[in-house]
Amino acid sequence: MDTFGRRHDYLRISLTDNCDLRCTYCMPEGKNDFTAAAKLMNPEEIAAIAEAFVSMGVKKIRLTGGEPLIRKEAREIIQNLSKLKVDLTITTNATKVHEFIDDFKNAGIHSVNVSLDTFNKEKFIKISRRNEMELVMQNIHLLIKEGFHVKLNAVMMNGVNTDELLDFVTFTKDHSVHVRFIEFMPFAGNGWQREKVFAYQQMLDVIQEKMTIEKLVDEQHTTAKKYRIPGFLGTFAFINTVTLPFCGDCNRLRLTADGKMKNCLFSKDEIDLLTAIRNGQDIQQLILQSVKNKKAQTGGQSFDLPTVNRSMVAIGG
Ligand code: SAM
Ligand code: SF4
Repeated sequence: MDTFGRRHDYLRISLTDNCDLRCTYCMPEGKNDFTAAAKLMNPEEIAAIAEAFVSMGVKKIRLTGGEPLIRKEAREIIQNLSKLKVDLTITTNATKVHEFIDDFKNAGIHSVNVSLDTFNKEKFIKISRRNEMELVMQNIHLLIKEGFHVKLNAVMMNGVNTDELLDFVTFTKDHSVHVRFIEFMPFAGNGWQREKVFAYQQMLDVIQEKMTIEKLVDEQHTTAKKYRIPGFLGTFAFINTVTLPFCGDCNRLRLTADGKMKNCLFSKDEIDLLTAIRNGQDIQQLILQSVKNKKAQTGGQSFDLPTVNRSMVAIGG
């Protein structure tokens, strides 16, 4: 529990700060200072740190990155964490998903979040700086066919993919997927400007002009405001971090691939759990201290000033 009465029971663990894609909003151009293997938490350290969090009340763990499935020990890490009493989930760009279907099933992973910002191949290359759209689409269909609960994360950026808003909504007609339109957020090296944010209210207006929409009940602690078109198989939602921060109900903590705990996506302060565990220190006190230090909103930073933080790929989204 932090000083604002928020109970934290959700941990997001980054497995790597590297990725096989290079999304402009996430990975700074030319980035090549990826963390050396010896400085990454190894599978045993990840399991030990995760276990400490679970013993203190964490009930849900999401694996993320960078791209979690390019981590060479991804299989072992997933297997280790599946032994903990938590709801285990993953966020992936889906390029490697076909190699992990059985691992997900064996680990009890039912829900998979996939990033997809466009249905247009040229635009996919422009945004991700890689030509992998066909594989990503194949793997989205594979996940649906295999019965996973699939959420599609689309970062909406003015002048980049805003023209595809209705295509995403239409995709929910015959596909049982849950699209989440995410407002473009500022991180180191991603060229963020407020003018590039396609705001929730604008998106809602565009959709409502063409379609009849129905508001759904939002789950507790969710970051997403959920809607559907009556009769469609899937749903869509908005994650409005920039225009309507949802910090008041936050239950999230983060662990970077190099073992630093962040109490907020936008916090500039970090606590080094990996060095502590390597030195045989008790990390529970450090975890408590980090939670107590959590600021009321957006890590105590304002988006209207330059924010001090890592790049998204080095935090773990
Ligand atoms: N590689 C995986 C993926 O792409 O799903 C997991 C890591 S990625 C950093 C996690 C999520 O963060 C993705 O859904 C991505 O779209 C989102 N993300 C990255 N940078 C962002 C930004 N600047 N604003 C909003 N969302 C962002
Ligand atoms: Fe890689 Fe995901 Fe970042 Fe894109 S959003 S560069 S896929 S980590």
